[in-house]
Amino acid sequence: MKPIYHRILIKLSGEQLVGEQQFGIDAKLIQWIANEVKATTELGVQVVIMVGGGNFVRGAEIAGGGITRINADYMGMLGTMMNGLAMTDIFNEAGVPTRLLTSVRADQVADPFTQRRAFSHLNKGRVVVLAGGIGLPYVTTDTAAMGLALQLECDVVCKLTKVDGVYDRDPVKFSDAKKLTTISFQQAVEDPNIKVMDKAAMGFALEHNKPIAVFALHQAGNLKRFATGEPIGTLIKD
Ligand code: UDP
Repeated sequence: MKPIYHRILIKLSGEQLVGEQQFGIDAKLIQWIANEVKATTELGVQVVIMVGGGNFVRGAEIAGGGITRINADYMGMLGTMMNGLAMTDIFNEAGVPTRLLTSVRADQVADPFTQRRAFSHLNKGRVVVLAGGIGLPYVTTDTAAMGLALQLECDVVCKLTKVDGVYDRDPVKFSDAKKLTTISFQQAVEDPNIKVMDKAAMGFALEHNKPIAVFALHQAGNLKRFATGEPIGTLIKD
């Protein structure tokens, strides 16, 4: 099986790392993700993972009552670092060479993100986990994922979700909801029923023509299938 992508960026939200736990991080689930990623890197695909922090803090949700938005967002970024540390350890333990880079300066914790450092790891066959988003408040890790996919010349951003793609209506509420195999950026931005990423992230994707693939995380083999060109989930492109 030959991959059709050279380098992909996976956006994993913090919520997806909670798994069977009530709170925090499900190490077993991350081990499982590590094996999914391994099957893909073994094909020769370079993998970057932007990790969210919503299982700990989302800035927009906790700001107020005395907590400034700026510090709420920094708290969110620190949450992404906790996830990134756990993921990196678990991936390495699972035999997937992985390095954590952060856009929030925290020298004891992880190396600072630079494009050169990321390329160097990727070219040595390592997975790069990115924490701290872009290191600036007022954005989410979805927007950061788009920005870093551009900087790191990733062919596509994979948004791994609970459902197996984008539907014309909420498939949980409507049994006749139809899965869309491809949609345009314009449609994804304008249709209020389509919620893939926040507006800033979608705007970024639209402006720079960076495709977004949406597919289910929890289906074994999905990532590898996607990397080899099987039409799974939904592809958002020009
Ligand atoms: N955040 C930020 N700047 C960034 C990335 C993240 O301020 O570049 C903050 C923001 O408050 C965000 C939180 O970190 O809500 C956690 O990220 P996100 O909500 O994207 O996590 P996810 O929902 O993907 O788990």
